[in-house]
Amino acid sequence: MKTLKFKLYEHKRSKHLKRMINAAGVIYNHCIALHKRYYRIWGKHLNCAKLQSHIAKLRKRNSFWQLVGSQAVQDICQRIDKAYQLFFKHNKKGVRPPEFKKVKKYKSLTLKQAGYKFLGRNRVKIGKRVYQFWKSREIEGKIKTITIKRTALGEMFMVIVVDNELEPEIKSTTGKIAGFDFGLKVFLTCSDGTKIDSPEFLKQSLNAIKKASRYHSKKLKGSHNRERARKNLVRKHEDVCNKRRDWFWKLAHTLTDKFDVLCFETLNLKGMQRLWGRKISDLAFGEFLQILEWVAQKKNKQVVYINQWYPSSKTCSVCGHILESLDLAIRQWRCPSCNSFHGRDENAAKNIQMVGASTIGLGDVRLAMPAIAV
Ligand SMILES: [Zn+2]
Repeated sequence: MKTLKFKLYEHKRSKHLKRMINAAGVIYNHCIALHKRYYRIWGKHLNCAKLQSHIAKLRKRNSFWQLVGSQAVQDICQRIDKAYQLFFKHNKKGVRPPEFKKVKKYKSLTLKQAGYKFLGRNRVKIGKRVYQFWKSREIEGKIKTITIKRTALGEMFMVIVVDNELEPEIKSTTGKIAGFDFGLKVFLTCSDGTKIDSPEFLKQSLNAIKKASRYHSKKLKGSHNRERARKNLVRKHEDVCNKRRDWFWKLAHTLTDKFDVLCFETLNLKGMQRLWGRKISDLAFGEFLQILEWVAQKKNKQVVYINQWYPSSKTCSVCGHILESLDLAIRQWRCPSCNSFHGRDENAAKNIQMVGASTIGLGDVRLAMPAIAV
């Protein structure tokens, strides 16, 4: 499976796609309302098949709803059902049930086998109309789904999921394993002692975003000026996002070139957010790990996670002595048992590496140790 994203040409014809997405949003909200009412009356979950047949019946009498193809409607029902299943499974962990969405903010519409046709070159027929897209790469393999997306800027994208068996396998072995510790000032600390500083794109652009946001809030609601200010603000946010993603991809490639096995702690994002505040969303560890996993899979490398409750910071990586407590502010400490001196993050990275190595049953990979022994 592979996901390809193409931008559609800006054209006034795009308004029809936007109308389709709006209709999908209306249907979505209707489904949510039905779910809620059904639960109020019968005290149980409305099952997906029942909802689908009911919505299909309603759709026959409603020309606006017919803008959305029958399969796309089914997809909406399934999406909602999925969200409810997640909620039933994890509601104790704080997962909320799906809620109403503003139609204006409803983002996408998914087509499966029907409702589109590729007409060669860069043209695609969606519904009854032909659209053009920037064909930045070839579409190879069998197309599974097509999702039409609109961004907050009003730009339209087409996201295609293809199933291609022929995955190019790049294999280069380094025979090295490394542990990594996420941090605030230093994005990643590697067990071999290298540090990768976080670029903090958001911080650099924060003033610009603040200004744009202030501008936006001062404009009269519903005015053209406000809309222009909103777009400006969105552009600033997107800019940060793109820069960050680009940096993540490059970093993921550098790391997977250097090591065969990469060990991380599973993230306790909620806890980290509470501890560190806004900064964590700036760093977006979760997004980085997703990208890294993808790159690792391509290059036949391994990403290993160790339990987040393992005391990686408090354990001495030389003798295994575990401290009772270690305040977050303490960056360096001396082990009371073996008297070795540790940098907080480096020590944690070394421990993560060791635990990771033991969980995969270390074969022919050797530990990436610093050149100078401490
Ligand atoms: Zn020690």
